[in-house]
Amino acid sequence: MKSQKVDLIIHNAQIHTLDPNNTIYEAIAIKDGKILELGPQRQILNKYSAKESIDAQGKEVYPGFIDAHGHMLMYAKQLLGVDLRGVRSQEELVLRCEQYKATHPNLKFLIGRGWDQTLWADWQMPTNHKLNALFKDIPVCLYRIDGHAALVNEYLIQQSAIVDQLNHIQGGAVVFAKTNLDETTNAAAINITSQLVKQKKINLQDYKPTGVLIDNAVDFVQAYLPNYSKSEYLEALVQVQDELLQYGITGVHEAGIDFEHIAWFKELISKNKLSINIYAMLMDSPKNRAFAAEHGPFEYKNLSIQSFKCFADGALGSRGALLKAPYEDHQNDYGLLLTDVQKMNDLAKFCLEHGYQMNTHSIGDSANALVLSIYEQVFNEKPDHRFRIEHAQILDPKDFLKFSQFAVFPSVQPTHAISDADWAEKRLGIHRLKGAYAYRTLLEKFGMLALGTDFPVEQINPFATIEAALYNPFGETLELEAILRGMTIHAAFAAFQENRIGSLEKGKEATLAILNNPISEQRSQVQNYAWRTFIKGKCVFKLDEL
Ligand SMILES: [Zn+2]
Repeated sequence: MKSQKVDLIIHNAQIHTLDPNNTIYEAIAIKDGKILELGPQRQILNKYSAKESIDAQGKEVYPGFIDAHGHMLMYAKQLLGVDLRGVRSQEELVLRCEQYKATHPNLKFLIGRGWDQTLWADWQMPTNHKLNALFKDIPVCLYRIDGHAALVNEYLIQQSAIVDQLNHIQGGAVVFAKTNLDETTNAAAINITSQLVKQKKINLQDYKPTGVLIDNAVDFVQAYLPNYSKSEYLEALVQVQDELLQYGITGVHEAGIDFEHIAWFKELISKNKLSINIYAMLMDSPKNRAFAAEHGPFEYKNLSIQSFKCFADGALGSRGALLKAPYEDHQNDYGLLLTDVQKMNDLAKFCLEHGYQMNTHSIGDSANALVLSIYEQVFNEKPDHRFRIEHAQILDPKDFLKFSQFAVFPSVQPTHAISDADWAEKRLGIHRLKGAYAYRTLLEKFGMLALGTDFPVEQINPFATIEAALYNPFGETLELEAILRGMTIHAAFAAFQENRIGSLEKGKEATLAILNNPISEQRSQVQNYAWRTFIKGKCVFKLDEL
């Protein structure tokens, strides 16, 4: 006799629990948003009567995917501005801005994102020459796909007076070219940093900014750039969530928010507009530190805050990654240190004191070595600190051991390996590729690997991550099981959420995805979607309603 009533049964399924034994079940019973039981179909259907029963038609079910490093706010901003992803030349970049202008009368400012000069024939950074003619009296800021560089127009350069302020900008550079050169190309351009200005190694009279700013120089001009309204952002954030849910993504580690954004997320959640699990990393600011000191690890429904995001260096694409030896394709250029060592040490201490994690963006081998040595102190005080390195992209092979010695949690984005495959060797030289994009070694050292996409730097699609990790062009591929764990239970561990989500086990949240097509090790899985996505037992996405 069917005795127990439940809310939902999903049966005729291949439920990949990703529990410690990797058990696969046929059916699952869900009550009050939690998993009550998993088992053979007959057992579950006989034992329980459900308000709703779903025949999964033999499809695969996984714990809801967690993107361990993404940027919902940045993606929302991208949706609000001009989309420059995939432009194939500087001319096309300008054309898209021109088209945007034509369809947006009374434009007060122009923000765009997504250009990537490594997709262009000449691989040269753009200049603002043509933009200046198009946008004479409004500010224009066009972020490179990785957000670590931007092309801004002359108006914004003038408004911000950045050239006069150069020696105040640490961890950033302004790209200049000789005044007598062709203004449409950046071929002979040089990066000018505060050090160069201070050392008087350069006579600025002979140079003119090309419009490209790197790392902290981009931050510098933000104050002179208007922004979208809060309501525009909130609306766009819901759109971002819709896109996540269609891929079965039910959790995002939001990599860096300001104090005001805590209230934004809380508002959306309290209005039941945002149901995915958000683990938000705080940017280091006095207000965010005060928040952490007051609350300690913080939870509000599906929002959890217990980490700080910090930038050790910039990105490889814009030569901001900090290297032990100079760039192969740029003389005497070691990249940029974005946060000074004392500040990083201080943040580590603060995090330890308040029960927070420190998640540091480190791309270059020098940045990684530095952050590992900072984390070493932390390990001595608290072995299960779960301090993370975000990206861990290029490592000196002798530094890998420190991930196991000091329990440093690696958080990587396999799609970066695909995007960087064509030019990383040019930047780094072949000898340095040995420790680059070394996912298998990182997994072996720490025992867990959290996987993400860094969207909107890469596409949101988690199936692209699976494919990228299976076929890492740099050689260190991952097994399918390790990849799936990296997108679920290991990502949950990286956020101290392993007791609540990340695997399908009795008592945990019924947060899961039924996939439209099975995951297999064949190529071209990228077209896959969720067929149904559930958060706490509630269906939040149906493919047939798309
Ligand atoms: Zn990021």
